[in-house]
Amino acid sequence: MNITKDTVVTLRYQLSDAQGNLIEESSEPMVYLHGGYQNTLPKIEEALGGKAAGYQVTIQVEPEDAFGEYDSELVKIEPRNLFPEELEVGMQFEAAPDDDPADAHVFTVTDIADGKVVLDGNHPLAGMALRFALNVIEVRKASDEEIAHGHVHGPHGHHHHGDDDEDSDQFRSIQLQ
Ligand SMILES: [Zn+2]
Repeated sequence: MNITKDTVVTLRYQLSDAQGNLIEESSEPMVYLHGGYQNTLPKIEEALGGKAAGYQVTIQVEPEDAFGEYDSELVKIEPRNLFPEELEVGMQFEAAPDDDPADAHVFTVTDIADGKVVLDGNHPLAGMALRFALNVIEVRKASDEEIAHGHVHGPHGHHHHGDDDEDSDQFRSIQLQ
């Protein structure tokens, strides 16, 4: 079966930087719903469209097609007292400017010093050209329910816990000054 809109694709991937240094290797296969559901990068969908199980390809994706250019405006320094007592570098918070609550980003704590906390709202892979080695393992037709939900169900896919797990808030929210 070929990869077309509304098929479920199972693949293994290796993610490297543009110099070929390994960043991440999938320990479990990644599964996504193909067809513009934003389950994966559009460039990956583009590379795999029309292909079948067994297909292997390596693609290079520029920052603008991956996790964006590095934006120094997304680095913020905030007073320590905005944060919970337990705080360490690497913790993540969702934060939005006071005047624009819709413009929320996930910020990672990158430094804590002198009563201040440095937050970086860039994706850890922002500004990087990335190389994906992709290996298609399985292609199947999506169920009607998966198409309606816009994501894959079942093993390695999306699991529903309770009534309302979609985009459950995994980050504590803070308000930027
Ligand atoms: Zn679902």
